[in-house]
Amino acid sequence: MTHSTTVKQKELFGHPVGLYILFLTEMWERFSYYGMRALLVLYMTTSALGNDPRGAGLGWTDQEALALYGWYTMLVYVMSIPGGMIADKLLGQKKAVLIGAIVLCLGHGVLVLTDTWAFYTGLGLVILGVGMLKPNISTMVGGLYREGDIRRDKGFSIFYIGINLGSLLATLIIGLVVAEWGWHAGFGLAGVVMVLGLINYIAGLKYLSHVGDIDRHSNDENEISYGELFGKLFTSKKQLFISFVLFVVSLFGWYKLGWAYGLLFVFLTVITALLMMIYKELESQVFKDRFLVLLLSFIMVIIFWGAFEQAGGLMNLYTESNTRRVLFGWEIPTVMFQSLNAGFITIFATIVAGIWAKRQLKGKEASSLFKMALGIIIMGFGFLFMVFAAMEFQQSGSSSMIWLVLAYFFHTIGELCLSPVALSFITKLAPIKYASLMMGVYFAATGLGSKVAGIVGESASEFGEYAVFLGILVFTVIIGTIFIFLLKPLKRLTHGAEDNEREINDDLTEGFELADEKIN
Ligand code: GLN
Repeated sequence: MTHSTTVKQKELFGHPVGLYILFLTEMWERFSYYGMRALLVLYMTTSALGNDPRGAGLGWTDQEALALYGWYTMLVYVMSIPGGMIADKLLGQKKAVLIGAIVLCLGHGVLVLTDTWAFYTGLGLVILGVGMLKPNISTMVGGLYREGDIRRDKGFSIFYIGINLGSLLATLIIGLVVAEWGWHAGFGLAGVVMVLGLINYIAGLKYLSHVGDIDRHSNDENEISYGELFGKLFTSKKQLFISFVLFVVSLFGWYKLGWAYGLLFVFLTVITALLMMIYKELESQVFKDRFLVLLLSFIMVIIFWGAFEQAGGLMNLYTESNTRRVLFGWEIPTVMFQSLNAGFITIFATIVAGIWAKRQLKGKEASSLFKMALGIIIMGFGFLFMVFAAMEFQQSGSSSMIWLVLAYFFHTIGELCLSPVALSFITKLAPIKYASLMMGVYFAATGLGSKVAGIVGESASEFGEYAVFLGILVFTVIIGTIFIFLLKPLKRLTHGAEDNEREINDDLTEGFELADEKIN
């Protein structure tokens, strides 16, 4: 059945106004997320006796705190899978974002309390809230653009600036608030800012009337529920066999690595089974191939974040203990180096997106897969400067901070080639019925990448920083190059999803029939 929505899309600076609503909502949300994240390990490791001027912490060891931090930062993204599934089948993205935002306000609100139960409850609510909000708000950005609109990638880059502006402001402000008024004031500020995000979103809903609603495809006759998909698994020999093998591996992992990893593996087995069944049920080969190439591109995503996320871990520790941080007689605090990435993004995001768009209009290679592979190489190249830093440290007992600045610069340019591009790519290729789920799987891949990063970072205590940085450099450059060699066959699988992208820049867009284009 054809279902069409005729809407007038108001525009501002060449993009739908809805983009700026989502930009601001995500900016406030990321402020609260990154602000709270910056405090987390410090709060956990501060003495519980109350002798710290910032108030009592939890009194945990570094190892305990880092372990919880690793699981927390992974879980927030892994929960994007259920968050995406709920949006696709039950709520639509718009309502899911609303609920996510409310849950986040509650979560940050609970963290203001000083009891231990409040700490765990607050973290749990934040995990659920981000899971509901993050994938779905990203999918909605894609929904603002028609198929083939060259502005989509740029729109995602603008959105990405919102993300990083939030994180930049948070990392600059929240430390000061905590130093003055204590931990729970910091958590409280994150909560207040999230309330702003919620108000901002609700006030802007009128500009989002044509995106994120589930009824765009509810009259699809081939609609199939997740329950039915799982039911079919038991009649599909190949898929059942693979799932069974993965399940056995998960149980083995449970036995060897403990319940937390065990549960994660079982969860991933269930998701893999679901993805295999979705693939099997997709109506046409075009949809199947596009689904497959998306999943393959997520391998790049895991590797990228597995290297990139050394920023908060190993590189952070390296900055703290091995780097000369004095500038004009002032010692720059270690945490400030964490702001470099967000700062560079704010400056370079539109420039990088502009370069790609120009290239594309000239007919030169600018496919998302190419950008992503190049992103891995550029980010990996950044580790060359960390290798230099480690060499200088070995020779003279400390290293210059210029290496860190250069490394973070290349990491950022690499991130800009991969991360906003991947978000956009998903909204071009995912079957619309599973758009949010695929976004959720993407974020889960970034979360798994962070977990890998933690494991790689820890190995530095055994192999030394020099070896780890060099290893990451070599590995990422090789992987990126392999993907560039595979570009042709991979691009074939996209069936021209990115060919003929053009300027669709009419001032007031009427008859925006995206749902129809994708379904029919
Ligand atoms: N820094 C980006 C954000 O917060 C990307 C994070 C990710 O994809 N894991 O959205």
